[in-house]
Amino acid sequence: MDPFQPLPSKIDGRQTAVIKSTCRLCYNGCGVLVRVEKGRPISVTGDPEHPLSKGALCPRGRSALELLNHPDRLRYPLKRSGPRGSGRWERITWDVALDEIVRGLNRARDRHGPQSVVFMRGGSKGTSDDHLSRLANIFGTPNVSTTSSICYSPCSLASKHTYGFMAYPDMAHPPCCIVLWGFNPRKTHPSMYRELSQAMAAGARLLSIDPYATDEKADLQLRPRPGSDGALALGLARIIIEEGLEDQSFIRKWTVGFRRLCNHLEPYTPDRSSP
Ligand code: SF4
Repeated sequence: MDPFQPLPSKIDGRQTAVIKSTCRLCYNGCGVLVRVEKGRPISVTGDPEHPLSKGALCPRGRSALELLNHPDRLRYPLKRSGPRGSGRWERITWDVALDEIVRGLNRARDRHGPQSVVFMRGGSKGTSDDHLSRLANIFGTPNVSTTSSICYSPCSLASKHTYGFMAYPDMAHPPCCIVLWGFNPRKTHPSMYRELSQAMAAGARLLSIDPYATDEKADLQLRPRPGSDGALALGLARIIIEEGLEDQSFIRKWTVGFRRLCNHLEPYTPDRSSP
């Protein structure tokens, strides 16, 4: 049997197959090959033919089967059976769980109005991001919260406000200097790290700014105290302007408020901003 056959509509207990799929433990979507025997996945490896990840997987992707099979993985609804924090839980059926949830939601809506309820979720892990928003919408609350407010959204918003689109570095034309600011692609973004390594092999220098020493290949590593990197950014901007390194024609053509920025930067001397 050709192991690289297309995805069978149903894998029965006798089949052995290697299935091309996509890791969705994060949003990078690395290509994986899932080997299935007797209807169960027995290995997950990187797909060398994937156009972006080219066979690389990060430690999360390589642990996919451990996550799937871990005995502590939550597989059914649990209800707290002791005081909050006691760690005591009892198993309940899905029907009982859904009834309890509906009762709780309706009670909050009747007593305090629908907007008293906040729906929160983690990463969508391959499902649509929209289901929970739709549920909240039908329920009558605009209050939906996700991890993206401390993750992707600030990065995406800042990029769109600065460049007009979600910018992606052009490593194929290697820059002179690459700055990784609070970002550890070696462990979290294998496809980008491969591009980055190629750029470094072509001569790009690497500056890593992170409380952790994340990349031993960095030419320079700045380790600011957590929460102080805003001051570091302002201090660097102050030096750029003080030494006349800014692009004046770009600033005239594309920006507003440059004078106000200069005033704002005044207190951020190297002493005050140093990590
Ligand atoms: S970076 Fe890691 S977790 Fe994310 S898709 Fe790739 S292998 Fe999976």
